[in-house]
Amino acid sequence: MYWGARTDVARAGRRVVEAGLVGGAAGNVSERSGDRVIVTPGGARLHELTDRDCPVLTLDGRVVDGQQTPSSETPMHLAIYRATDAGAIVHTHSANCVAVSTVLDVLPPIHYYTLMLGGVVRVAEYATYGTPELARNVLAALEGGRRAALMANHGAVALGRDLDEAIENAQLLEWLCGVYISAKTLGEPRALTDAQLGEAVERFAAPSYTHPS
Ligand SMILES: [Zn+2]
Repeated sequence: MYWGARTDVARAGRRVVEAGLVGGAAGNVSERSGDRVIVTPGGARLHELTDRDCPVLTLDGRVVDGQQTPSSETPMHLAIYRATDAGAIVHTHSANCVAVSTVLDVLPPIHYYTLMLGGVVRVAEYATYGTPELARNVLAALEGGRRAALMANHGAVALGRDLDEAIENAQLLEWLCGVYISAKTLGEPRALTDAQLGEAVERFAAPSYTHPS
């Protein structure tokens, strides 16, 4: 059952590897389908996944279909689905995100594209991978409608209405972190002020808005 969604998740596993967001088995992907969640399996090489490899779970974590063990980060995925309107989630250990997550508590808003992630991106407090504590810390970092968060000394998580959007948001966060790191090598980057961000938000909300450019 849920073969369409399982195919989507398996394909998304390959896409995040091809996008350079994930290497080997580092990272996981999930999609919500009604009151079920399809997630990549633990320890899986994401570029080799098939639909059969992806287990189907209830929102409280009971496996209802599939032979493989769900990803160790499944408690975080489920906690996010229970608390938000996310339709898909991508978790990565992409290099720029990990680098920033080891130094900062928030990603300074030096580019207005941060608004596409719901505001200034926070770094969730460190906790051991796969634990309910880490899930709680990530939820706290997503508060206020954020679509992404960094995870201290670990990686990043990005939400979307669907897998396309979650992958785009993961790529955007990796780009924002890369730009910040590059800028930092030149000097102290200027962060946008609240007023400047507010004006950009107003443009996003304007009737003529299509896509920020
Ligand atoms: Zn991880």
